[in-house]
Amino acid sequence: MATFRPRKITLPQRAPYVDRMPPERRISRRRLRACHECDWVMALPPLSSGQQALCPRCGHAAVTRHRYPAQRSMALAITTLILLSMALGYPFLSFSASGVSNHIELLDASTELIHFHEPLVAIAVLLTTIVLPTVYLVGIIWVQAGLLTGNVLPLSRLITRSLIHLYPWMMVDVFLIGTLVSLIKIASLADIVLGPSFWAFGAYALLLLATTQSVDRDWLWFALAGEPAAPDSARTGEPAAPQGLSGCSTCGLVNALGANEKGRCQRCHEPLHLRRPYSLQRTWALLAASAIMYIPANVYPIMTTTSLGSSTSNTILGGVIELARMGSWPVAIVILIASIIVPLGKLIALVWLCSVAPRAAQMNALSRTRLYRLTEFIGRWSMVDIFVVAILVALIRAGNLMSVTPGPAALAFASVVVLTMLAARSFEPRLLWDYANSAQGYPNDPSLPPPSSSLQKGPADKEQPA
Ligand SMILES: [Zn+2]
Ligand SMILES: [Zn+2]
Repeated sequence: MATFRPRKITLPQRAPYVDRMPPERRISRRRLRACHECDWVMALPPLSSGQQALCPRCGHAAVTRHRYPAQRSMALAITTLILLSMALGYPFLSFSASGVSNHIELLDASTELIHFHEPLVAIAVLLTTIVLPTVYLVGIIWVQAGLLTGNVLPLSRLITRSLIHLYPWMMVDVFLIGTLVSLIKIASLADIVLGPSFWAFGAYALLLLATTQSVDRDWLWFALAGEPAAPDSARTGEPAAPQGLSGCSTCGLVNALGANEKGRCQRCHEPLHLRRPYSLQRTWALLAASAIMYIPANVYPIMTTTSLGSSTSNTILGGVIELARMGSWPVAIVILIASIIVPLGKLIALVWLCSVAPRAAQMNALSRTRLYRLTEFIGRWSMVDIFVVAILVALIRAGNLMSVTPGPAALAFASVVVLTMLAARSFEPRLLWDYANSAQGYPNDPSLPPPSSSLQKGPADKEQPA
């Protein structure tokens, strides 16, 4: 399936066409955005469908415009829900070896874990693959149905706000990779038949990805609540914090902050902060917790395999070594990257970012922001190993002949993944630019007047009309 590839345009550093206009004619000023990652204030020009507006300072995608945004995501969400119901109703996989056979349905991947006293891992599998995607899809259909009928349905704003927070926790694509890894792992031991539900699930995973890509958040908020004007004093081509402004993390609107540097977005009511409060402390605490959980996750076995009466327990690393010994190099490399290199690399990267954030130099801010983006993107892929355990435990249940049971490391490892994801989300990337901002003369405290001449010298600000 072809994925959507937007045409990228980098926004101009300054937007004199906005700033030079008399206030009553500053129509484009209504479309100000502050970059979520570097806090740069920019003006959005009218975008045509297929275009993506990039931040001129850090390259973060501010807005992606789609053709027929409501119809498109509505159609995709309905199709995805139908595919999910098909994936739930038929056999997912069946296995047979030495005269013993078994077949599982999709839900068994989480319910079987409860029988082995791993309810938390079971809940994590169920939430990330079925429950949260269903809530997301129903939410999309609810909001878009209201917009298409010209009659905004109740709770639409609350739902739209929640959908954005839900998005990173849907891991259907990771589960699909986990299923493929499990199949390769047991292909040499047993005959595997892919049920109709497997194909429906594959299509569901791809279409869910397409649905999330089809949501034009900027358009959605404009359609739901219009575009309240940005504060008149807002200047483009400068960081937002020194101007006492904050870009809403949910709908993107630029808001003026109150006296205590707090407030709520006037369009979507999301809480606003100059910088996320106690961001570094929270990230450090979550990193410490995940570092502690990393030890049992790697010391204890993640699963125990029983074959013809003899049991072998494997740690994550032990599993990788065994796969390599069996000659399954590609799977061994996938598990090594997803389960060992990614969580450890993410921990190290976030510890480093937290320790350099208070003294990040301008020249490094961009590469550090890219590193942060990478840690945020790859975190969820570590769940592959948990999904492999969930599938194998459900599928291979032939008692002493051949069975797989989850080990204590499964819960520890799942919590490492969740904690590092929370740590990445609580980290404030705008801190990486604050040192650079103050080095350029922009104070990080909006109550201080801009001391640097560079602020007054801007061509856009000289020509304020009388
Ligand atoms: Zn930026
Ligand atoms: Zn907002």
